Amino acid sequence: MDTEFRSFIKAFRAGQRPAFPDNASSIEYARELDAQDELHFLRDKFIIPTKGSLRKRALTGTVPGTNTKVVNGHVSVGKKNGIKRDDGDNEDETPSVYFVGNSLGAQPKSIRTHLDAQLETWASIGVNGHFTTLENSPLAAWQDMAADCAQISVDLVGAASPTEVIYMNTLTVNLHLMMASFFRPTEKRHKIIAEWKPFPSDSYAIASQLQWHNLDLSTSLVEIHPDNPERQYISTAHILSVIDEHADSTALLLLPGIQYYTGQLFDVARITAHARARGIPAVGWDLAHAVGNVELSLHDWGVDFAVWCTYKYLNAGPGAIAGAFVHQQHHHSHHPSNSSNGPEKYNGYAPRLAGWYGADKATRFDMAKVFRPAPGAHGWQVSNPSAADLACVRAALDVFAQTGMSALRDKAVVLTGYLEWLLLRLLEVGVGRSEEGEPAYRILTPANSRERGSQLSLLFRSGLLERVSERLAEAGVVVDVRKPDVVRVAPVPIYCRFEDVWLFIQALERALE
Ligand SMILES: *Cc1c(COP(=O)(O)O)cnc(C)c1O
Repeated sequence: MDTEFRSFIKAFRAGQRPAFPDNASSIEYARELDAQDELHFLRDKFIIPTKGSLRKRALTGTVPGTNTKVVNGHVSVGKKNGIKRDDGDNEDETPSVYFVGNSLGAQPKSIRTHLDAQLETWASIGVNGHFTTLENSPLAAWQDMAADCAQISVDLVGAASPTEVIYMNTLTVNLHLMMASFFRPTEKRHKIIAEWKPFPSDSYAIASQLQWHNLDLSTSLVEIHPDNPERQYISTAHILSVIDEHADSTALLLLPGIQYYTGQLFDVARITAHARARGIPAVGWDLAHAVGNVELSLHDWGVDFAVWCTYKYLNAGPGAIAGAFVHQQHHHSHHPSNSSNGPEKYNGYAPRLAGWYGADKATRFDMAKVFRPAPGAHGWQVSNPSAADLACVRAALDVFAQTGMSALRDKAVVLTGYLEWLLLRLLEVGVGRSEEGEPAYRILTPANSRERGSQLSLLFRSGLLERVSERLAEAGVVVDVRKPDVVRVAPVPIYCRFEDVWLFIQALERALE
């Protein structure tokens, strides 16, 4: 890798803001950075919607940007079958600028082969697929698929072993399952500490858990508000002070690794350690925006539990099976906050809402009456999971296995830093400035690379959002629009290019003219 690229990585990772050269606003410079990017090969593992395919209104059996056509389940590839590169009923084959990997990741090409393998297995050997792996198949036997996905996720989340990780259900369901085990309020300790504006699903889950325990939100829910309200920024020092204030009455601290709206990355290690030191019995993290985005060491950080979805940065497809982490220290013990409910009450295992798939594999199909959980996080499974769904998760995780979070993060800090630099430059030259001299947008996301992932949240001047989002869409730019005034932009490093960042900036500049 070029030494210039390396020096950018080093500086951004150190929390500095290196200056890009004067010619950095040219497309040639963006392409130069792409040429130096060692992860450039990963883009080819994905199907990026094209400008034409985004306008599709009916199924045509075509896969954007490829020579593949699927008709009645038959796949034909290439010109000699009379198939030209086809982007549906629209001819524009130019790839879109797909900057919504924080909402729904692009489709890995291998999803189709993995799904085909699953369908062939089911069609060919029927029920025996639960226990049998066919030769040449990329998939484990159905009953081992979740464990197989856990196996290749160890580095992704920084687990000590695959038993700390499981794939099951969906994110919010897992949040409830984890709270059932780890939020064990007592008269003295009854509070949940959360942030002021969680993703709505998390808010509903937290509030309904409190109500489930007959607790009053006004006395049992502690919301950490931003200490910098203008940027909606919450400093670590402020979080630690709220923990101090409520430590004696808190049963659970539950925060997002990355705040979905502002893109702020929290110091999971320090906050978790502090809560522990202050005696808070359980610390959980919602990592929906962190897994596949930033480096994590959940085991070493002493996180009790974590949950995440797999359709954002992990690219497993809409609503795909979600992930969960349970720290080793809870694998064979009762919950420490609840010493009156000794281990004997739960057969020596942490309390949970159990189901047959959480039973130890050796006895799962024996239909035993007494529940003996599988080791670790695997013992929190409830139902027989969808094999088709896990095939998608496995395909998506395979792409990450071809690189690592450290290399992805290296690229991400430079890619996001480049986006920020170009955004600030547009403001400097006054693009979209109001007559009163107000800038067109502000960046809500922290300026320090160490406090953000791949997402920048742009807060537009009131009244601009509709026009800007319409024009960006017309230009084939896909971003996440949050009314009334915010656009979230996520150049994810696994398939986005520096050239895409340049194209986005060009489209934004035109949208603001
Ligand atoms: C995306 C997201 C969700 C979505 O929950 P599902 O159960 O997968 O629908 C929940 N919480 C956060 C923080 C998210 O970012």
